[in-house]
Amino acid sequence: MPKSTRLLTLTLAALTAAALPVAQLQPAHAEQPPSPPGLEWLCEGGGPIPAAELVNRVVSPACSLVGRMVTGPADTRGLNVRVPEPGELVRAFAVKPGGSEVLTVSNLDGEIRTEFDDTADGADTADTADTAHPDDTAHGARGTEARHDAVAGPCEQSAYAFNHGGRGFPSLRWYYNSGSAARAGLSVAGAREAIVRANRTMTDVRDDCGLPRPDGRARSEYLGDTRASANIDSGAGCTSGFPDGDNTVSWGPFDSGLNYLALTCTMSSSATEQIYEADIYLASNRNLTLDLPKKGCSRLWDVEAVATHEWGHAFGLGHVDEETNGDLTMSPAITSCDTSARTLGLGDHRGLDALYGAPSQPGSRPGLLDWVGDILG
Ligand SMILES: [Zn+2]
Repeated sequence: MPKSTRLLTLTLAALTAAALPVAQLQPAHAEQPPSPPGLEWLCEGGGPIPAAELVNRVVSPACSLVGRMVTGPADTRGLNVRVPEPGELVRAFAVKPGGSEVLTVSNLDGEIRTEFDDTADGADTADTADTAHPDDTAHGARGTEARHDAVAGPCEQSAYAFNHGGRGFPSLRWYYNSGSAARAGLSVAGAREAIVRANRTMTDVRDDCGLPRPDGRARSEYLGDTRASANIDSGAGCTSGFPDGDNTVSWGPFDSGLNYLALTCTMSSSATEQIYEADIYLASNRNLTLDLPKKGCSRLWDVEAVATHEWGHAFGLGHVDEETNGDLTMSPAITSCDTSARTLGLGDHRGLDALYGAPSQPGSRPGLLDWVGDILG
């Protein structure tokens, strides 16, 4: 018997032996429901569909799943988006202490495709515990030693990724619910300034590296105050009201147990990958602040840094690898007590240039992590 086969046999035997006592405790069921041959069972009922059931599978059922909720984590707590209409692709980006979650659901002429990604660098996740970090200075404790051993600094790290397959937002006109900042206990004027500045960092391609500004840049226009809210709810969902034709930024709480700092929902055409709507929801109950303390800072996040990252998604940027490019604004983790994500690094700059600068030749985008391409084949 080949070694690998023997090992498999032994493993199966061990599993069987381990399972027996449990099986003996169960009442005998003569008619166990057969495993579903396909995904037809999704058609039954109307409840949420765990993304895990859909990931890496193309759903083309006789019934329509449009409007059904797709949930990220298996326990149905966390990110959720509704199955969009045919021709639409919706993606939710949530940043949390130490990482991000991203949930994508596309409907390409009735075929439903889903991806879920959860990244964490382990740095700030420790900050979620009620422990003091006496040496957590204003410079922050950015990531792992391995990262610093690789390439240090935002002006050396060059990777970028696209949100929606390499097409930016043609002209991002947006509203802001400035009054909602009061829910976070923030100065209404101060929060507005920070969010407008974050937006302009993307359109001005503002970096600390002295890089020449690209010829072409993203266009955006702040249309002023609104009483409307982003179509994102406290349960971390892109709601059924998304898209509504308006790009809206607002503040609001996340439910207990949802440790998100901010959530951005973007909508694009599932065929052309063109973004046409983005809403940004900033957590009013998760330690976002306009004034990081110079000393003794712990478990606080800079509003402008978080907002700059979220605007990056709205303008068409995705996440880069945290281990190798963790100092970039578009790395999935935003460090606590750190303002460096307010400005762009080399990779962020290159990403915007690729989206809005001179057209590049096909295949000339080193570092591209075009995972929409994976979804759409
Ligand atoms: Zn993000």
